[in-house]
Amino acid sequence: MADLLPPPYSFGVDSRFDSWRQNQDMVVQHVVDSEHRLIMPVCPTGFGKSLMYIVSALINGGSRAVILTSTRALQDQLKNEHEGVVVDLRGKDNYPCKMLGGYSTCGKGPCNWGMRCPFVKDGCLYYDQVKKAMAAPIISTNYAYWMNRGDWGYGDDYTFQFSTLICDEAHELPEILSSFLTKEIIGSREGKGIKDEIVESFPKSKSGIKEWIRHWHKTVSSQYEDVSWRIKEEGDYGKETLDLAHFLQRLWESTSFINHGIEEDPENMIVYKSGNRITSSVVWPYHYTESTLFKGIEKVILTSATVTPKTIGLLGIDQKDVDVVEVDHPFPLENRILNYIHTIGLNYRTTDMEMLKWLARIDQILEDRLDRKGIIHSVSYKRQKLIMESSDYTQFMIGHNSRNTIETVERFKSSSPPAIFVSPVMTTGYDFPDDEIRYQIIGKIAYPDTSDPIIKRRMQMDRDYAPYIAMQRLIQTCGRGVRNKEDWCENFIIDNNIEWFIRKYKSFAPKWFQDSFRTVRVKKRSTPMKEDVPKPRPV
Ligand code: SF4
Repeated sequence: MADLLPPPYSFGVDSRFDSWRQNQDMVVQHVVDSEHRLIMPVCPTGFGKSLMYIVSALINGGSRAVILTSTRALQDQLKNEHEGVVVDLRGKDNYPCKMLGGYSTCGKGPCNWGMRCPFVKDGCLYYDQVKKAMAAPIISTNYAYWMNRGDWGYGDDYTFQFSTLICDEAHELPEILSSFLTKEIIGSREGKGIKDEIVESFPKSKSGIKEWIRHWHKTVSSQYEDVSWRIKEEGDYGKETLDLAHFLQRLWESTSFINHGIEEDPENMIVYKSGNRITSSVVWPYHYTESTLFKGIEKVILTSATVTPKTIGLLGIDQKDVDVVEVDHPFPLENRILNYIHTIGLNYRTTDMEMLKWLARIDQILEDRLDRKGIIHSVSYKRQKLIMESSDYTQFMIGHNSRNTIETVERFKSSSPPAIFVSPVMTTGYDFPDDEIRYQIIGKIAYPDTSDPIIKRRMQMDRDYAPYIAMQRLIQTCGRGVRNKEDWCENFIIDNNIEWFIRKYKSFAPKWFQDSFRTVRVKKRSTPMKEDVPKPRPV
């Protein structure tokens, strides 16, 4: 079929982009022609969504476009692949401060507290990059930077105008917004500083919170003003003063946010103390979607492989206001199947006997796959330990804890078969293309942690919230091992709860994922039999 549009390079991207992938031009055309302000292209992995949204923004013209990404890896990729069209901008902490001789970052530069710096117009690595970004047609940055920039948006309230906002990995938006609106005040080990006083004086009853935060916000503001004055008026920018100013600035932001939330949005605000930590957040972030994220911008593109109408609902957007364009998965279905093998339904009543059956099932899947590498998703560290201590293949297993995840992933990636990575947290953020993994075993549907009071409140108010999050995690998990058209990975889920879960909540998944679900028929018996497990696909 002939392309709908001239080749991508004719719109200004690099000449390497000389043809469209399947459906890419159709989605670009759709985005450009859409009369909706909010457009949601649901584009699976491998579709090439960054080229799609960059060309759409270039055709759209007007003033600048901004791409928001949730990972450094994606920001790096945009920077490398679209140099000259997309300019990368990060927070001040990513650039060394010239005024400080490079010993600290621009986040602690004395100009932040009003001191005049000769490098601000020319020579400061951060401000030079801002200027470069402002001259480029498209800027790429991270969500936190964007949400912190009160002067960027569209309309009279903003100094710097953008015509298009592109939100990548848009399925994460409710969580991204919530994290941005979550503030923590953590006491120190020594227990002597102002943070300790704030934490210790946290009121026993809810009615005292308003007075408590008002008092501390006033106190912190006054200390913050003093130190800012010392930097600006006395030219004191010694390390100790800057560290203090930086510390008080963060604390001021937290107390200011809590104070404002308690005054303006008390029903939606949760503030609680746990140990020496005070956490505050909003139950639902949708009151802030427009003011903090969309900021009046004329065209907003929300793109991801898994964004669904439920995501839109959690952002407080009416579905009729969104133009959804969903495309088929570009990778063959047989390369990305999710096989369900009837084993046990895991829950808090699961018996020891049932757990033995679950562990036996894992070993059965592993038994014929020792010529390749794979991942077992344990969902908790407790089950990770159990698997690693009980399996017949424990000598091939690689585990990690919350402090050494990155190094352990690297070690696993460079290991030879039959390496088996056992992890509770590999659902997102890491990719394992080609031979890096050829199978995944999902031990359990990963529901959110109910010990978090905010999650608990959300689940009480919206019964679909937890299943929605669990479905997102399942889709993301299955996507870890299939990263290109020729790639394939066998996915297995062995939690029987998937039977009703998929039936009941399939609308929380895009169609391409629904189509990938298969039930492997097994005979009824008390212990798993070897023949119940599909034969491995040859590597
Ligand atoms: S303008 Fe000067 S003080 Fe401010 S961050 Fe840049 S180099 Fe540092």
